[in-house]
Amino acid sequence: MPVIQERVLPIRQKRESIYNHYVPAVEPDHDSAAEALWFLYYEDKLLVQEKGEKVELPLATCAKAVTDWGISQETTHYLGTWQGVPCYTAPFTGEFSTLPASYQFQALRGLYERMSEGLFHLAGRAVQIVAWARTHRFCGTCGTPTVRSKKEHTMLCPSCGISYYPRLAPAVITAILKGNQVLLARARHFPETMFGLVSGYVEPGETLEDGVKREIREEVGVEVRNLRYFGSQQWPFPHSLMIGFLADYESGDITVDGEEIVEADWFDADHLPHIPPRVSIARKMLDWFKDEYSHQFS
Ligand SMILES: [Zn+2]
Repeated sequence: MPVIQERVLPIRQKRESIYNHYVPAVEPDHDSAAEALWFLYYEDKLLVQEKGEKVELPLATCAKAVTDWGISQETTHYLGTWQGVPCYTAPFTGEFSTLPASYQFQALRGLYERMSEGLFHLAGRAVQIVAWARTHRFCGTCGTPTVRSKKEHTMLCPSCGISYYPRLAPAVITAILKGNQVLLARARHFPETMFGLVSGYVEPGETLEDGVKREIREEVGVEVRNLRYFGSQQWPFPHSLMIGFLADYESGDITVDGEEIVEADWFDADHLPHIPPRVSIARKMLDWFKDEYSHQFS
């Protein structure tokens, strides 16, 4: 068996942390004349401008965003600074004609690799804050309108004192290894030819390890052992934190439920089928698998 920790580490180090260039804050303390980067969302689409292979975010003072683009201060959230530049996020509810003609709203998922990885993560943080604020305007317990905390991204109920934090759902994803093969499954919602890794949300009362074993048992009917942490990735579609594991096959024949998973099989590193795109942790894990196991037994 390969020495996992040593071999996994170089891949994990390649990822860029959101904090390499980002300093979070909730209350702005910059000069009001300063131009800020805007993460403006229309539904889950981000306003960007094409710049060759890359995309750029709009820059504007707060006053310009409010008067020219019709951004509401009430639904605007300060995010902190990116490379020293103040950043804001807000839902766009104005007229499209007020926006500069060179900008358009694009699905965030498709913008991976078209902006730096750190900035992509910040865009993911922004879309989740906008969605959380939109869905927590009232207290779920007593119905009182919530107010925003000045200290952190929290919506507070002034009546019963409950705090509502941005929603984040942990989900586990596992590469099940057997010799030089990996188990790949095709979910019903996947494109026709695409196979991915077994994944699913962690349920209340479970550890991550419990969640891994249950999902694998439910979706493909096999047992695994020797779980190792691979790495994690935020997945703001709409609010997951993906936690990746490697596991060794222990026993059982592949059996799919036919509902959520329609097909599953073992694949060797030199003959992988159509796999998920580079934005996903599944792809990072399968790229690692390919590097480790390709031609290993030839
Ligand atoms: Zn309340």
